[in-house]
Amino acid sequence: MGSKNFEKLREEALDTETLICARCGFCTFVCPAYNDTLWDSQSPRGKLYQLRELVKENKPIPADFADRIFKCTLCGACQEICQTNIPLLRFWQQIRYEINQVGEWPEIVKFLDISIQNSKNIMDLDQEDRLLWTDMVDDLTEDRVGVPAKVAYFAGCNISFKGTLASIGENTIKLFNHLGIEFTILGEEEYCCGNPYFVGGEWDKAKELAEHHLSELRRLGVETVVFNCPGCLRAFAEEYEHMLGHEAVAGFEFLSYSQFVARMLKEGKLNFTSHFASRNDNVVAWHDPCELGRHQNIYDDAREVLNAIPGLELREMKHTGKKADCCGGGGLLKGTNPLMSVRISARRVEAAEKTGATVMASECPSCTMSFMDGIEQKESEIKFKDLSQIVLEALGIE
Ligand code: SF4
Ligand code: SF4
Repeated sequence: MGSKNFEKLREEALDTETLICARCGFCTFVCPAYNDTLWDSQSPRGKLYQLRELVKENKPIPADFADRIFKCTLCGACQEICQTNIPLLRFWQQIRYEINQVGEWPEIVKFLDISIQNSKNIMDLDQEDRLLWTDMVDDLTEDRVGVPAKVAYFAGCNISFKGTLASIGENTIKLFNHLGIEFTILGEEEYCCGNPYFVGGEWDKAKELAEHHLSELRRLGVETVVFNCPGCLRAFAEEYEHMLGHEAVAGFEFLSYSQFVARMLKEGKLNFTSHFASRNDNVVAWHDPCELGRHQNIYDDAREVLNAIPGLELREMKHTGKKADCCGGGGLLKGTNPLMSVRISARRVEAAEKTGATVMASECPSCTMSFMDGIEQKESEIKFKDLSQIVLEALGIE
């Protein structure tokens, strides 16, 4: 059994990274899991130190250490600051793969796996209900399911099945309608994007999902796919190409919601008519989702959109852009360690409050869920809005 330990880590020459760590500790203070526990064993440096012996002695990862590895949002702050340029995100993902090899994935991650295998979505719900999120915009979507079009909208499991998030997808459809865009949605042929497998380190399990989506989109003649979920976007824009090669994604363009809106603004197709100055929710603190910012280097588009809204004042939190703190919901932490997740969210809400903003905004269904919990936990007065809502308000669309 022992000889198979850390096989994939060795294949990618990541096994020596534990030796490269200089133990400088820069990563500790940016790590939300360390900041929550203040245990060095929970910090990136501490985990690397513990792994050094396990890798050297070729020992399987014990259950208590597996638990520590999943107390991580995969926010990438450690990789961003690492003084020896260790590719820590890939490293943590590969360690999660190792953990699955010894059967120690947390129960919730095992559930996600079974659910995707059985039902093609992360909630183990019937795919026939995939379009429940369109209930409020069914007049705009009913003749768009599976039709050929150059533009597609990919909602993702959270927006599709979690009623409180459906409005994010509705907002995007209303914007398409306002712009007169002929679009398509995949309906029951939209499966989980595979993100749970990427954060669980099991790329091979996501291959079929990737192949299915790309072949459906090609069949419909799609060229551009728009996403509200940065995790889905990263799956298509990065992971699918890594898994299947460049040919598989050639000819497609994958855009975040903010990239799409920023482009429409630049092309003069959008005109923000509502003036925010007279509103009491015109001061907005922007939160960079980790999976959009650090993971995909998309920082400017949302700011361009917000700055184009008359009377809206954009405020930056102390840690912003590349240094933004996590919402607490990444890396499956919300499922594996919900209490830690909400404490991290509450800290980010506090940072937004400190800017004096009345609204905290972002563009990510997972961040939305985290901040709703964080605001409740803190009993904060601040409101949270997804960017898609602010854009509709600025266009005067209800
Ligand atoms: S990815 Fe984020 S939570 Fe995980 S170890 Fe690095 S800094 Fe900590
Ligand atoms: S910043 Fe990099 S080199 Fe320094 S302790 Fe953290 S992982 Fe090691």
